[in-house]
Amino acid sequence: MQSSLTNALYSILRLHNVLESGIDEQVRPSLSSWEDAYKTTPPWDVGRPQPAFVELVQAGELNTGSVLDIGCGTGENALYLAGNGFSATGVDLTSLAIAAARAKAAERKLKVDFRTGNALSLGFKDGIFNNVIDSGLFHTFPDNDRLIYAREMARVLAPRGKYFMLCFSEKEPTNWGGPRRVTKEEIESTFSPLFTINYIRDALFATRFHSNGGKAYLTSATRISA
Ligand code: SAH
Repeated sequence: MQSSLTNALYSILRLHNVLESGIDEQVRPSLSSWEDAYKTTPPWDVGRPQPAFVELVQAGELNTGSVLDIGCGTGENALYLAGNGFSATGVDLTSLAIAAARAKAAERKLKVDFRTGNALSLGFKDGIFNNVIDSGLFHTFPDNDRLIYAREMARVLAPRGKYFMLCFSEKEPTNWGGPRRVTKEEIESTFSPLFTINYIRDALFATRFHSNGGKAYLTSATRISA
C-alpha cells in the first residue's frame, strides 16, 4: 500500500520533472512554471541554507562586503549570509518566492534587499557586488542563456569579485528527472573568458527528497579585472 507520503513525494517529483528536465534543454522554463512551483514547497526549497555555502562562509572563502544571491528563491542562503556579516541582496524572477523571502527576513529581523528581477538583465550598476552566489540557478538555463548570464553576472561583480555556484553534476543519476546535469567542461567554457576558475569540486546539493544530497559541483571563480 502506498502511503500518502509516498504519493506526495511522487507528485513533487513529477512537478520537478515538468519544471525542469521535462522541458527541452534548449527551452527556458517559463515564469508561470516557476510561479506554479512556489504554490507548494518545491523540492529545492529545503528551509535552511545549502551546507556547501555554509562551509564556504565558515572557511572564509567569500570576499568581505556585499553579496548578491541570484535566483535566491525563498532566501535561505541570502538570510544566512546577512546573519553572518554580509550586506545581502537576493534577486529572483518569481514574485511568490520573493514574498516568502521578505516574510522570513521580517520574522528573523534580518536585513536583506529581496527583489524580483531577471538574472539575464539585472537592474544593478556595474561592479557593485563583492560576491555573487548561485544555488541551483545556472543548471536551469538552456545553452543559449549561459553566456548571457555569465556576462550579466560578471558585469555586476567588482573586479576580483567572487562567484560561487552550486549545480547538479553529470554524476547525479537522471532517472528521477530534475534540472540539467552540468559537466566541468561546460562550467569552464561558460565562465573562463571572464573569470579565473579557482576550483570546480564535488559537493552535495540538499533537496527535499535526497537523504544526503544530490551529486553536484561547487564552483569558485574570481572576476578577472577589466
Ligand atoms: N537558490 C534557491 C532557488 C533555486 S531554484 C534555493 O537554493 O532554494 C532556481 C530559482 O531561480 C527559482 O527560484 C527561480 O524562480 C529562479 N529563476 C529562474 N530563472 C531566473 C532568472 N532568469 N532570473 C532570476 N531568477 C530566476
